[in-house]
Amino acid sequence: MQIDMINGIIWPGYAWIFDSGSQVVNVGLGTELVAYKAQKRRLPEVLASYLSQLGGDFDLDQASMHSAPLPLASKLPRLALPEQSAALIGDAASMINPLTGEGISYGMVAGLLLGRELADAVRRGQDLGPAALRYEKDFRARFSAHFRNNVALRGILRFRPLAERMVGSYRRDAAYYRDALEFMLGCGNTISAPRLFWRGLVLS
Ligand SMILES: Cc1cc2nc3c(=O)[nH]c(=O)nc-3n(C[C@H](O)[C@H](O)[C@H](O)COP(=O)(O)OP(=O)(O)OC[C@H]3O[C@@H](n4cnc5c(N)ncnc54)[C@H](O)[C@@H]3O)c2cc1C
Repeated sequence: MQIDMINGIIWPGYAWIFDSGSQVVNVGLGTELVAYKAQKRRLPEVLASYLSQLGGDFDLDQASMHSAPLPLASKLPRLALPEQSAALIGDAASMINPLTGEGISYGMVAGLLLGRELADAVRRGQDLGPAALRYEKDFRARFSAHFRNNVALRGILRFRPLAERMVGSYRRDAAYYRDALEFMLGCGNTISAPRLFWRGLVLS
């Protein structure tokens, strides 16, 4: 998989390309809705521009092209809705990393936490409402600071020269790569956004 922040796509944002089978590649663009609208460009044109910069002979399949607005975790809604015997996880709960646009891992962790709490309550013969509330408390305890940190770094990385220097350090330094990855995934004892940023600048 290749991820690019290059001229010709929308900034802030990144484009990706990866092989998804014989003669077929998945190509896409992640950006902010506000930036996409402000730049008044159309998705086929942006993707064609990206592919032309990669070289090679690509045909864009317009029929399979689609876009999806993803709700960011900078504003999590209520996750537990005991009065409706319900709880939200994944995209339905806005669990999208505000820096990377990724959401698979949070949806999976949320499902695991909720499932454990519900199973535990059923085993003990307890109400499910409090179990859903415990799930929300646990999820927020794990990820609220992580999402705030990623929002903070997103603010810094809007300035493209800074973003490029950080990405350069990320590519060159294995320890920095590991810390930055942990920062973006929310696992381990991640460092704060300013510390990660300054380290990236020092290493660049
Ligand atoms: C183009 C694109 C690229 C992405 N790339 C990445 C990436 O590289 N890494 C990453 O971590 N995240 C990525 N994401 C985000 C990731 O796809 C989502 O965060 C993740 O799939 C959320 O999982 P989910 O189960 O909450 O929702 P979904 O995966 O959307 O699953 C919801 C399911 O519910 C079904 N459904 C909807 N309504 C009903 C109904 N009424 N009845 C029954 N079923 C229904 C839908 O068909 C769907 O299958 C990407 C998103 C997009 C759009």
